[in-house]
Amino acid sequence: MKQSGYFADESFNKMKPLRYVILVMMLATLSVGAEQHTVEIHDQLAPQTQSNLRVALTLDACSGKYDGDLINFLILNQIPATIFATKKWLDKNPFGLSVIKAHLDLFDVEDHGENHIPAVIGAGRKVYGIPGEPDVIHLRREVIEGARAIEEATGVAPHWYRGATAEYNQQAIEEIGRLGYKIAGFSVNADTGATLKKVAIEQRLKHVKGGDVIIAHMNRPASDSAEGLSVGLTHLLKKGFVFVRLDQVELMVIPEKIDKKSQRRDDR
Ligand SMILES: [Zn+2]
Repeated sequence: MKQSGYFADESFNKMKPLRYVILVMMLATLSVGAEQHTVEIHDQLAPQTQSNLRVALTLDACSGKYDGDLINFLILNQIPATIFATKKWLDKNPFGLSVIKAHLDLFDVEDHGENHIPAVIGAGRKVYGIPGEPDVIHLRREVIEGARAIEEATGVAPHWYRGATAEYNQQAIEEIGRLGYKIAGFSVNADTGATLKKVAIEQRLKHVKGGDVIIAHMNRPASDSAEGLSVGLTHLLKKGFVFVRLDQVELMVIPEKIDKKSQRRDDR
């Protein structure tokens, strides 16, 4: 059972995945007091001998509603995606969940936490105004209960974790790894939390390259996300891009893309 991974410390340490070691090293080298910094992790698909036109579409279901237009577009066009859902979203959107469950051939559902709390540990710390976790016990609960909800809802246990706001501090990164989950970063932010207008989303998707991991949102049906993504993704299909899910691939950290701004923001 994945949930017992945290207790099986010694065996986990022997088989620490390389990407986890790189993440920890990346943070450790930032500066003295690295545990105070947060980073936005940027990833791309690990290279394979197959097509270099592979890309991954990841959709966050934070809290809020179900964007049926977006999911229906993906089903109609047979575009696979990885959905990062919280327990909160699953509980509030039974219809959306039923559509996803009817298409598990297309959608891989992964862990976005129990209550959409950022994976940043420390009393009083916030990311984009959202309070983080007071201590590591709360982080563990967020990760484990999020995973349990997904397994109960879909019958498939998640292996990837993406924290709310996609920002992490070192202690959180280490703990998520110890619990047995791989952290899913991204390389193209398509809709900036479902706040971008249609044309801006299309523009961002025009710049997608092979190996990119796209992040967008499927929890704000009133936003322009479905419309912008429909046009942008159709364009990518025409260019010959092939969409893969995170349960089919490994990701590679792009270390040079550590977000210096978020470090500064956190220093204040
Ligand atoms: Zn989210």
